[in-house]
Amino acid sequence: MNELLKKLTEAVGVAGDEKEVRLLLRDLIADHVDEWRVDSMGNLIAHKKGAGASDLRVMVDAHMDEVGLMITDIATDGTLQFTGVGGFDDRALLGKVVQVGPKKHTGVIGAKPIHLLSSSERERVVKMDAMRIDIGAKNKDVAGKLVNVGDRAAFVTSYEELGPTALGKAFDNRAGCAALVELLRAEPYPFDLYAAFTVQEEVGLRGAEVAAYGIDPEVALVLESTPAYDLPNNNDASPNVVLGEGPSIYVMDRRAIQDPRLVAHLTQVASEHEIPFQIRQPGGGGTNTGSIQTSRSGTRAVTLAIPGRYAHTPAMLINLDDYAHTVRLAELFLRSLTDIVSE
Ligand SMILES: [Zn+2]
Repeated sequence: MNELLKKLTEAVGVAGDEKEVRLLLRDLIADHVDEWRVDSMGNLIAHKKGAGASDLRVMVDAHMDEVGLMITDIATDGTLQFTGVGGFDDRALLGKVVQVGPKKHTGVIGAKPIHLLSSSERERVVKMDAMRIDIGAKNKDVAGKLVNVGDRAAFVTSYEELGPTALGKAFDNRAGCAALVELLRAEPYPFDLYAAFTVQEEVGLRGAEVAAYGIDPEVALVLESTPAYDLPNNNDASPNVVLGEGPSIYVMDRRAIQDPRLVAHLTQVASEHEIPFQIRQPGGGGTNTGSIQTSRSGTRAVTLAIPGRYAHTPAMLINLDDYAHTVRLAELFLRSLTDIVSE
């Protein structure tokens, strides 16, 4: 059992409320870095001093936040109205168990039983604003003692390993966070490494923007989880990678064109060491590369991602070999980085 992935995916950190994940990460890395700090937005920034061979400033980013829900109102019957924090398909929500607020009250996103639905209701998608979270409170007073407007709600999913596949919530992006923890636990790099576990990626790449400004790196590597979409799709050309065929390297998405020298360096290192990899089909989506690349006077940046099925739903699947290959490729990429910048 990968305890790092289990701990990190079962922790709760909906965008803007990442404290539980931040404290967990701080404890996981504290003995392996020279110093760490938390900036005003809540990014956890750690500095691992280099072995002295290079004075390059390198940032490795992994966002800590996950998509979730925020309570917007408490109804007289004690049920909770909510909105999304990050992107959702409303159809993925009905009937799901959630944990609400800092005390993690269990609730369910209530659904009308199918045998009570009229035929027209069966045809319609229920929208999020018509859904309620039911925490079993009998009225508004009772619910108001347990939950506050503004509290987050997150899915409840236990981490499990199914052969080479792992199931859990929030692999986007706790898989990236776990990979970054492993990079920090390795021997010092030739240069100073700044690890940024960033906040609020899911609401617009916000934490990475200030983290990059503060670190002022020359090169940045963004560790992510990217949607695997290896399902029957009738010639749909959506960005598509496959579970189990290796780390995914970005070239272009809606927010950034990746630095071509770093893309070439990643593919070259992977080929040299016989690490499988996939070029993510260029297209939609966006990662923290989008905000890091344009910080200050610009940063060379690239995204390396672990493919994950069913992102932004209560349960995702990743392949553990893809995860291990991502950690290995990221480490080898970093250790050989001095060559590329001296070109
Ligand atoms: Zn992500």
